[in-house]
Amino acid sequence: MSNVIEVKNLHKAFGKNTVLKDINFTVAKGEKVVLIGPSGGGKSTLLRCLIRLEENYTGEVTFEGKNVNQANKDQLQTLRQKMGFVFQQFNLFPHMTVLQNITFAPLKLKIDEPDKIEAHAVELLDQVGLANKAQAYPQSLSGGQQQRVAIARALAMKPEVMLFDEPTSALDPEMVNDVLNVMKQLAADGMTMIIVTHEMSFAKDVADKVLFMDKGKIADQGSSDYIFHETTNPRTKEFLAKLM
Ligand code: ADP
Ligand code: MG
Repeated sequence: MSNVIEVKNLHKAFGKNTVLKDINFTVAKGEKVVLIGPSGGGKSTLLRCLIRLEENYTGEVTFEGKNVNQANKDQLQTLRQKMGFVFQQFNLFPHMTVLQNITFAPLKLKIDEPDKIEAHAVELLDQVGLANKAQAYPQSLSGGQQQRVAIARALAMKPEVMLFDEPTSALDPEMVNDVLNVMKQLAADGMTMIIVTHEMSFAKDVADKVLFMDKGKIADQGSSDYIFHETTNPRTKEFLAKLM
């Protein structure tokens, strides 16, 4: 398997606060990597470094063999097209319909013919279970529905990798599964994914590799079986015991 993403010796500080320390990992095509760990451990910062929403780090992040930190403006735009990002806060455009939210960026960047972009958006809405909401406005949707639109919006760019940063943390509990089920389907369809989540049963099901991040370091890592059943790392066990 070829690696889509490689992270080597990544260090990142905010002032005197070093929040990522010697991070090393790879993501192979089709692989699902799940990041877990206590709040403040550096998970969001790590994801943000991958698409260069954070700069001024040392070490190397490569995407499809290209150095993310050295990409020029055009290369960076291409790179961000290939990495879909779904945040905890979905931030849909309130004055646009669901369909317009999904087609906006692909139309602007002209990734395809307009009619093809629209047809793809309709397919994606069906895929996330919202075929009947194309003409609705975001404020008329539940949080779970809005997050599924945000996933469709990211997929509309035809990304190679999807990054999720706690996509269900802001949702009412009864909506969490609708979003996780969309993500499970995406995983089953072969998408390469990096997911930050506190949903441990989802992580167990989906992860090929789990990274436990604590105080800026990857403190433990391995298969889902290893992390959830076999590890002897006291920090991992303590963290999981609190959640499960
Ligand atoms: P997690 O996502 O695991 O909760 P974060 O990556 O958000 O962790 O945060 C890691 C550390 O970096 C925390 O100590 C946080 O306060 C700090 N941090 C994150 N973003 C910034 C920022 N823009 N400026 C200063 N410190 C930050
Ligand atoms: Mg975070």
